[in-house]
Amino acid sequence: MDMGIRGKRALVCASSKGLGRGCAEALAAEGANLVMNARGAEALEATAQAIRDAHGVEVVTVAADITTEDGRARVLEVAGDVDILVTNAGGPPPGVWSDWGRDDFIRALDANMLTPIELMTALLPGMMARGWGRVVNITSQSVKAPIPQLGLSNAARTGLTGYVAGTARQVAHAGVTINNLLPGIHATDRAQALDGPVAEREGITIEEARARREATIPARRYGTAEEFGAACVFLCSQQAGFIVGQNLLLDGGGTNFTI
Ligand code: NAP
Repeated sequence: MDMGIRGKRALVCASSKGLGRGCAEALAAEGANLVMNARGAEALEATAQAIRDAHGVEVVTVAADITTEDGRARVLEVAGDVDILVTNAGGPPPGVWSDWGRDDFIRALDANMLTPIELMTALLPGMMARGWGRVVNITSQSVKAPIPQLGLSNAARTGLTGYVAGTARQVAHAGVTINNLLPGIHATDRAQALDGPVAEREGITIEEARARREATIPARRYGTAEEFGAACVFLCSQQAGFIVGQNLLLDGGGTNFTI
């Protein structure tokens, strides 16, 4: 199916690896030109080159921390007018409720709530003026069902979700949609990094730790960045123009609920 986004310009934040990269690859495969971002310049440029080689699209890169004011300003300056925005950044650290003070919450809110909001504030007016736009925010399954040790993430991402629910309904009349993608466990560096400490604590191998987590997922496996990218590209497609303010969970059935 042609997604109708050939030649569109997409800004994909935090996209040298993992889920952001999955989204960038899938958009490029549909002919979108990319502005890609991550902090580490080397991995970012290597991924950008792999995408140029595979899909023949234009890819520009901006090595910057998207959660800082200066980083966002540099990314937005290079990005210019974009038709598609995918927001993403690393998640806050785990812990327990009694660990976290005001500064921890401010950092988490800055990274995982206010950064995507500021990017939308900057880019929505242009999309609305041109009569077409797509925003996809990468959030987390923790929005549907809290992950106790990720209280900072639960709080910040739920705040973003509330913002999107209202804002998506204020911009839809101009042909602009905003939706969220909620990853469950995916086989990225981050997921693998979480298996390491479990293996160490339990005195088992990383493979055994992964097998235990996979057993908790009805699909009995981790998701892939390719599957995640495919969902992203659909939400960015012409065909998805009537999908507004939704939260799409990609978790292999891991979150046990009815609606
Ligand atoms: P990942 O594999 O660790 O990749 C993270 C990517 O983001 C890298 O390209 C990294 O490059 C970039 N990045 C991180 N912080 C950044 C920043 N401040 N500014 C710019 N780029 C940044 O992580 P992932 O698994 O794809 O996760 C992506 C998001 O989904 C995270 O917020 C994570 O919490 C959330 N999530 C993931 C899962 C999962 O199972 N994978 C589940 C639920 C939620 P640099 O380090 O070079 O900047």
